[in-house]
Amino acid sequence: MICASLAPRTREQALAEMDEARRAGADLAEIRGDALADPAELPEIVRRKSLPVVATFRPSPHLSEDDRFRMLEAACAAGADFVDVEHEAFREFPRGGAKLLLSFHDFDRTPPDLEEIAREMRRRSPFLLKIAVRANGAADLLRCVRLQKSMSVPSAVIAMGEYGEPSRILYRRLGGYLTYAALRAGAETAPGQPTVADLAAGPFQEVYAVVGRPVAHSKSPDLFNAAFRAIGRNARYLRLLLDDPALFHDLAVQLGLDGASVTIPHKEAIDVDDRDEAAREIGALNTVVVRDGRFMGYNTDAEAALDALGPVGGKRALVLGAGGAARAIVWGLRRGGASVVVANRTPERACALGCETLAWERRGDAGAEIVVNATSVGMGADESPFPVAGWRRGMLAFDVVYTPRDTRFLREARAAGARTVEGIEMFLRQADRQFRLFTGAPMPVEVVREFR
Ligand code: NAP
Repeated sequence: MICASLAPRTREQALAEMDEARRAGADLAEIRGDALADPAELPEIVRRKSLPVVATFRPSPHLSEDDRFRMLEAACAAGADFVDVEHEAFREFPRGGAKLLLSFHDFDRTPPDLEEIAREMRRRSPFLLKIAVRANGAADLLRCVRLQKSMSVPSAVIAMGEYGEPSRILYRRLGGYLTYAALRAGAETAPGQPTVADLAAGPFQEVYAVVGRPVAHSKSPDLFNAAFRAIGRNARYLRLLLDDPALFHDLAVQLGLDGASVTIPHKEAIDVDDRDEAAREIGALNTVVVRDGRFMGYNTDAEAALDALGPVGGKRALVLGAGGAARAIVWGLRRGGASVVVANRTPERACALGCETLAWERRGDAGAEIVVNATSVGMGADESPFPVAGWRRGMLAFDVVYTPRDTRFLREARAAGARTVEGIEMFLRQADRQFRLFTGAPMPVEVVREFR
């Protein structure tokens, strides 16, 4: 069930928001009595509810505990369907027909004794047990997911914050009874809450994720979810913030992932059962497909870059950078028949790529027909990693950076008469290859067009 968490200031706002939540697909509404300017309005709101109501009244310095419980009692008498009572503050009181929702919160961390807390809470025999704790890393998310899956009573184990997002979105598949959602973006009552509309689209048969750190600004969820919708696939693509790549396997198993796009900084560290030739030879993967419990790794970056560049056979290419993207592009260029020279700020990393290298200071004199920016320079500041004097008419400039689209590197190349290829061309092509690996179908052209 999707519970819209509402923190209205007035009765009118509460009733209007409850209506909006119902229309958006919520199954019930939590009314935060402590948010009301006049908390005595809570019973009247409950009487006029348009959705089943969870009455919640968090402790407040302005109200004694006796008065707070009197408010909750009045909400129960008015017909609240559930009443939220904090585990630490629990006391018996007349609850009428309202079911007891026993809750525990920790907004700072996932407590080390989480499982013991859950056991203690069960001794009070609530109808529904809610545990909401902050996940400060993927290990915390994993603990919350395992706890949720082990529960044999109606429960909602929520990992708050960016690390915890999958526990909210996948609550049903993890065995959760309900999860909390914001009416709209910006109206969250706890960190990491999705919107009602976002959750109402589920449940999903297949789940995919972009895995890395950071992932908050990745364009992949929008792209893949639009593509899944366009082909009528009941699949969801989410963000999985991962600090420790060693946890990937267990998390993927526990969340039931069908596949993943792997991004910075885990392309080299993620462990899989087997790899395709590109992933093996490049020493990095950007795609994982899970089939019958087996994890298969692929690298779609190299082919995508080569496809975006067009024929490179017999040409001399300068690759700037020696990180994950550079490794894939160097591999692709050499397969395509180009002769490759690499220049990197840290020369030892360039040497490790096993091809001709050039001192970073001399990168403008490579005599190359193709220049690839495979560094992250240009992503934040308006900077180019290539000297403006190095451009000549007829050269080809390719930038892997795709935010912004038109980088300084490309602008300066174009001004000198060079042809340019934007990073988005590689991004869309590597995503299309991932989509084919996930679904067997190409990414719909109209979705690709929308992003281009
Ligand atoms: P990475 O492994 O962290 O490598 C970063 C590279 O950039 C290294 O060679 C690094 O040099 C260099 N660099 C960083 N700051 C620099 C500076 N100020 N001056 C000179 N060189 C600098 O990252 P990656 O995975 O290769 O990704 C690189 C970029 O490619 C990112 O912007 C990423 O978003 C983009 N990318 C795009 C696509 C696409 O589809 N378009 C696909 C993959 C990646 P040092 O070795 O000296 O640190």
